[in-house]
Amino acid sequence: MTMTKIIQVKDDLSVIDEAAALLAQGGLVAFPTETVYGLGANVLDEEAVRRIFQAKGRPQDNPLIVHVCNREMLCRVVKEIPQKADALIRAFWPGPLTIILEKSNWIPVSVTAGLATVAVRMPSHPAALRLIEKSGVPIAAPSANISGTPSTTRAAHVIADLTGKVDYIIDGGMCQVGLESTVIDLTGEEPQILRPGGVSFEELQEVLGKVAYEPALQDSRQVPKSPGMKYRHYAPKAELMLVEPKQRESIPTIFAEKKTLGKKTGLLCCSDETYQADVVINCGSSAAIYAQRLFDSLRRMDEEGVDFILAELPEDEGGIVPALKNRMLKAAGGRIVNCTDIQTKHI
Ligand code: AMP
Ligand code: MG
Repeated sequence: MTMTKIIQVKDDLSVIDEAAALLAQGGLVAFPTETVYGLGANVLDEEAVRRIFQAKGRPQDNPLIVHVCNREMLCRVVKEIPQKADALIRAFWPGPLTIILEKSNWIPVSVTAGLATVAVRMPSHPAALRLIEKSGVPIAAPSANISGTPSTTRAAHVIADLTGKVDYIIDGGMCQVGLESTVIDLTGEEPQILRPGGVSFEELQEVLGKVAYEPALQDSRQVPKSPGMKYRHYAPKAELMLVEPKQRESIPTIFAEKKTLGKKTGLLCCSDETYQADVVINCGSSAAIYAQRLFDSLRRMDEEGVDFILAELPEDEGGIVPALKNRMLKAAGGRIVNCTDIQTKHI
């Protein structure tokens, strides 16, 4: 068991510096970013990186994102910065975009799970930038949750999952985006989105012109190129089922059936209709608010002892919606009301 210290960050960012010093020397530090909380280690310290996989129960073949705080650091992480990467960096960094590039020899293969490429991102949360800057090294960090469970978007979630497994948890409040970064691969012939996230398809298209979606994001029979995308992710303990807006009339019957089986029911909704669920969480009036609250809401349902959750899919399209639907579908294992197919095409 590790003694876990919690640091509250308000205006004075220097409270982070002791955690940064320990991180540089091999410690594990959970920290806020604008997407979700990250579980960070010194990218050059193979033992610390091994501890990340151990603390999360993360499969060894799932590579980590390397977080940098400036261009100089980026130059040491990658072999070269192609022109398209440069354009993306100018448009979206610091921010929720992870770029896959050829890795430099400086980065150990334990971080990239043996791949010759590396996923790299510059987060915009001031606490994350301070942590990287003060530790003086790039930080390898996956999301700060136990593998397979909903990602963490508040320090309380991280405390629940990782106390006793990490040296520091930095509390920087609620994450703004609430879903992970977009992952885009620039090592192939044309730019390809491997994971939808905080930067939208439309925004990427505006900068790059042509952008492709990885085929496996649209067809479940294909094997995903991004190793992490093949795993069950984000799942609450409760059974989760999704419902399309046009199928809302089925909700009362489904809840009634579950209640006769003695199940406690939960509803994640985007409207005021509650359908007499035992626990109701309104995920707000916009897809951006839904995205910010999704993981927090799934965790709250578990805390309330809900057995069965119905979550309404958002009506809008574009922007953050593909990322939101992607996470919801994964969390639900593809189960949608009145749909026999396991779905993956909603991106
Ligand atoms: P997480 O750290 O849990 O947010 O996941 C990071 C995502 O980026 C996972 O889906 C990884 O498989 C993916 N990833 C990281 N490095 C690479 C890489 N070099 N090539 C392709 N995908 C990557
Ligand atoms: Mg994750």
